[in-house]
Amino acid sequence: MEATFEKLRTLQDILYAKFKLEKEINEIPKALVTKTEVLNRAKKAFIERNEAGEQGKAKLRRLTLELTDATKKREGFEKQMDLIKTQKEYEALDKEIRDATEREQTLRKDIQKEERDLEELLGTLEKQERQIALDEEELKEEGEKIQAEGTSKKDHHAELVAQEKGITPGMDEDILFKFERIIRNKEGLGIVPIVNGCCSGCHIILPMQFVNEVRNQDKIRFCPYCSRILYFQSGMDPAKRDQIEAGSLAELVDEEEEADSDEE
Ligand SMILES: [Zn+2]
Repeated sequence: MEATFEKLRTLQDILYAKFKLEKEINEIPKALVTKTEVLNRAKKAFIERNEAGEQGKAKLRRLTLELTDATKKREGFEKQMDLIKTQKEYEALDKEIRDATEREQTLRKDIQKEERDLEELLGTLEKQERQIALDEEELKEEGEKIQAEGTSKKDHHAELVAQEKGITPGMDEDILFKFERIIRNKEGLGIVPIVNGCCSGCHIILPMQFVNEVRNQDKIRFCPYCSRILYFQSGMDPAKRDQIEAGSLAELVDEEEEADSDEE
């Protein structure tokens, strides 16, 4: 039984590292996908703004033509001024000239406004284009880096799987299945000693009868509260026992701190 516990403890470290790595490997593409989505949205906005720019340019061309037209009309009316004979004719032509002049002024104003808007839009477009190019470059570099990281993580993962396969043959499959699940759910701690009658995983006091059953070591037993595998360390050296007890206390005080030091 002691040998089985030892195997489980070794396996625990391997599985914990393996699961952590699997999570990291899965999360890598997610980060990249999010950034790609952001970039694609920026590109779409750029295309839309660019279309608005083209429309603005077309409008400006149209307004310029209309202005040329209005100017020609006014000049034509002005030439006719030399030919008029009556007051009535004069008044009619004068009105035409005033209307045409007004039209020219309106068009000039419209053109100025359109030019200002377009200039601003083109400035924004230029900035966006530069930003998109920068983001694309950054994303490309990151993608390459991530791919390299992913490869080294997958290599490490394969090593861990090989180590795992070196330990698991001959072990009870049901127990292995449960053990893996506990390690996944309990942040890497699947096998813990009983300390002062408490499960050192969840710190709940265990029934005396149950503690004795664990001590008998006739079969593997799981903590009824946190499902971790329990073992009884009878011949534990006092220094180590104190360490575990202190650790358990620290864990009670600050669970997170304990989790950090576990990772080290
Ligand atoms: Zn427990």
